[in-house]
Amino acid sequence: MTDLFAPSHAAALDAADPLPTLRHEFLLPRHGGAEQTYFVGNSLGLQPRAARRYIDEVLDKWAHEAVEGHFTGDAQWMTYHGLVREPLARLVGAQPSEVVAMNTLTANLHLMMVSFYRPTRERPAILVEAGSFPSDRYAVASQVAFHGFDPHADLIELQPDEPGGLFSMGAIERAIAEHGPRLALVLWPGVQYRTGQAFDLPAIARLAHAAGAACGFDLAHAVGNVPLALHDSGADFAVWCHYKYLNSGPGAIAGCFVHERHAHADVPRFAGWWGHDPSSRFLMGPDFVPSAGADGWQLSNPPILGLAPLRASLDLFDRVGMPALRAKSIRLTGYLEALIHAGLSDTLEILTPAEPERRGCQLSLRVRGGREHGRALFEHLAARGVLGDWREPDVIRISPAPLYNTHADVLRFARTVQGWKTA
Ligand SMILES: *Cc1c(COP(=O)(O)O)cnc(C)c1O
Repeated sequence: MTDLFAPSHAAALDAADPLPTLRHEFLLPRHGGAEQTYFVGNSLGLQPRAARRYIDEVLDKWAHEAVEGHFTGDAQWMTYHGLVREPLARLVGAQPSEVVAMNTLTANLHLMMVSFYRPTRERPAILVEAGSFPSDRYAVASQVAFHGFDPHADLIELQPDEPGGLFSMGAIERAIAEHGPRLALVLWPGVQYRTGQAFDLPAIARLAHAAGAACGFDLAHAVGNVPLALHDSGADFAVWCHYKYLNSGPGAIAGCFVHERHAHADVPRFAGWWGHDPSSRFLMGPDFVPSAGADGWQLSNPPILGLAPLRASLDLFDRVGMPALRAKSIRLTGYLEALIHAGLSDTLEILTPAEPERRGCQLSLRVRGGREHGRALFEHLAARGVLGDWREPDVIRISPAPLYNTHADVLRFARTVQGWKTA
């Protein structure tokens, strides 16, 4: 029988993998002279080596050309955000005109709700998952209150109906049916940050629309992690950040999707000059004429230095393509799951769904025996250069990122947990 825990087994899996690792394209933090075993790409992705070159290109252009940099060459700043449009559209399964990189995630969520959360007295409510990411919850509750409604009554938080904090499709369906006539918006995650559960987004959009509500997705933990087909999903909007699986650096510029059917519609919005139709933007007239598509939601001229590292990251996603990357992700996370079942289940309980189509790369692992026990394991791992992240009260999240994590990394985690058990 194969010994899953043998280093030779992990090495053989890496050597035989159809998608050789792109780890050499990234800078790995070091721990005690060796490369850290980094499983926190769900929080801050690693720096692509090419990020520095793209940033230097901007700094050099600024140094040598100053204001003229807006107008010269392929990477001119006037149209710089357009350089990421097509690769982003490929990544999220959208038409190029449906995506734009701008602002940050929570800011984009607010801007999208200005346009697509249009509550009325009959229909004031937003449906979200209970335990949603705090920033999302603050954003939706403040929008409900801003419109003069009561978040206690009109922010509907669906409780999970499956063990470990998971949601069945049936529960989502029942909630939308129950609250349908009062729902103005359904806001749902692509992948839930706490549990790692992935959702059937087209099905959720269909249900929301059938109930007469708008539908938006927060893809912070989904983008670059699971395949997405935003256009076909029919969602009205989606927002995401680029510093997690998209490896574009702390506080990176974020992403936004607006479905094509709103491209030319007279949708209410908060306007800024960069959302103005570019053909007449510099006539500097008093009246706002929106650009078609997602571009029409831009406010300011974008931070070019913030866009530069996103180009480096998207080059890598384009080189590999989401199908191959996802296939590798399923292999890596499947190996992690198999190791836990084979030898660690007395210590760790997997909260994330077992079906690959209901999860991304992350496994949320509850440490048996309570919080102090869990913290001790987390510290043991960190002290040995194995970095996951901690979620109160007793969960360690481990996210093997298929661009740079390997089967050997996954094994290193499992053996370090074994070492703690026997210590
Ligand atoms: C990471 C994350 C955020 C962070 O919001 P920022 O505006 O980028 O600071 C928000 N929501 C979710 C679901 C996240 O996973």
